[in-house]
Amino acid sequence: MFDFFKEFNMTTVRLLLSCLLFKEVTSLSGNFWHITDQHWDPTYKLSDNPELVCASSGKRPAANAGKFGDYACDSPWHLINSSVYAMKDILPDPDFILWTGDDTPHVPNQDLGEEEVLLIISNLTHIIKQVFPNTKVYSALGNHDYHPKSQLPAAPNNIYNGTAELWQDWLDPESQETFKKGGYYTEKLLNRTGFRMLVLNTNLYYDQNKRTQNMDDPAGQFGWMDQVLTEAAHNKEKVYIIGHVPPGFFEKKRSKPWFTPEFNKLYLDMIRKHHKVILGQFFGHHHTDSFRMFYNSEGSPISTMFLSPGVTPWKTTLPGVLDGANNPGIRVFEYDTQTLLVKDVVTYYLNLTHANAARGRWEKEYRLTESFRVPDASPASMHQALERIANDHCYLQKYYEFNSVSYDLTECNSDCRVDHVCAAREVDFDTYERCVKGGATAIYGRLLTVLSVALCLVLANR
Ligand SMILES: [Zn+2]
Ligand SMILES: [Zn+2]
Repeated sequence: MFDFFKEFNMTTVRLLLSCLLFKEVTSLSGNFWHITDQHWDPTYKLSDNPELVCASSGKRPAANAGKFGDYACDSPWHLINSSVYAMKDILPDPDFILWTGDDTPHVPNQDLGEEEVLLIISNLTHIIKQVFPNTKVYSALGNHDYHPKSQLPAAPNNIYNGTAELWQDWLDPESQETFKKGGYYTEKLLNRTGFRMLVLNTNLYYDQNKRTQNMDDPAGQFGWMDQVLTEAAHNKEKVYIIGHVPPGFFEKKRSKPWFTPEFNKLYLDMIRKHHKVILGQFFGHHHTDSFRMFYNSEGSPISTMFLSPGVTPWKTTLPGVLDGANNPGIRVFEYDTQTLLVKDVVTYYLNLTHANAARGRWEKEYRLTESFRVPDASPASMHQALERIANDHCYLQKYYEFNSVSYDLTECNSDCRVDHVCAAREVDFDTYERCVKGGATAIYGRLLTVLSVALCLVLANR
């Protein structure tokens, strides 16, 4: 009898303990949305003449236009609306939302003005607020959120002022001040001690921005960032950084950077100096799904920048990119709420062709840890994923298809491999060029590539 009770009590204690532990584990997990590059084109309309569907196609015909859009065009309102309601369906109560800019269509400057830009930002702000009225949104400006495009100044102006007003509910009084000055701000993440969000205006470092080209530190953002991150280290804070234009190179066009060389170096130095407090960087601008690794001087991975796919399917007109469209994508990050470690990344997408033909359905595209067989999305795991992509054609091909959000399903050949691997591995201009010249330390020759592709196909068909 005594033994029975003793055994019973021990089992109860074990059960209680495991319940407590389970609760502890589950309560550490949180999630947030990242959306970017919506590029709403208010001129989009279905027309018998494919050249008249949307202003953002230029003169390119929108041959497959439907109510969700066309690959030659920026987003119709129907697509924007559908993406925000898909977010609500998939994850209705995120801890917060990251929104990294580019709201207006790709049209010549003369077709937009300050007022139109603000109106577009206002409409997008409104729908996000309407669908997520109680969710904190951290929002960064894109190079298209200004008139003329990409010319974001290092001083106060109508658009910074107007946007600060539109985002009033999302900005602390202090954030409003720095935002009006330079389009950037920092706040405690969700008002919690020990956690911080840094929202950057990296459009100031864009090589297309003529207004900041000869400045050492436009709007004092680098100095401010250095100070914020130094204080964060003193206060034992963990920090997320968001912005629009990323440093490093575009993976779809060889040797195509966005920052000027000076600003690229300053940004890289900043991350290397403060990486211990930076737990994640979240950017847009590419419209593709990729990531950038940051390493220390010993070659150890110290930080990852996640580049999230855009909502717009717009085929880029960048010379040298052959078929640079994508399916619309939105993304959930899962993270540890105590450490801010990024645990997983789940991308959702809309197959535009299917959506236009039948019913629009946003579906899960992939989960990072499943597809790349890594334990989490830490810098060490992302480095491991990159090594797999670099050395195993199956992973390269998988990564390549996700890169365009399952739009371009052609084979990623050896040149393609070098472009993608070197862009992900090397943010620094010099080491990137060396990587490209070395063929991304070509591990396999032509014959081995053919064998590896064949093996990959055999395995995929099993
Ligand atoms: Zn964009
Ligand atoms: Zn952009």
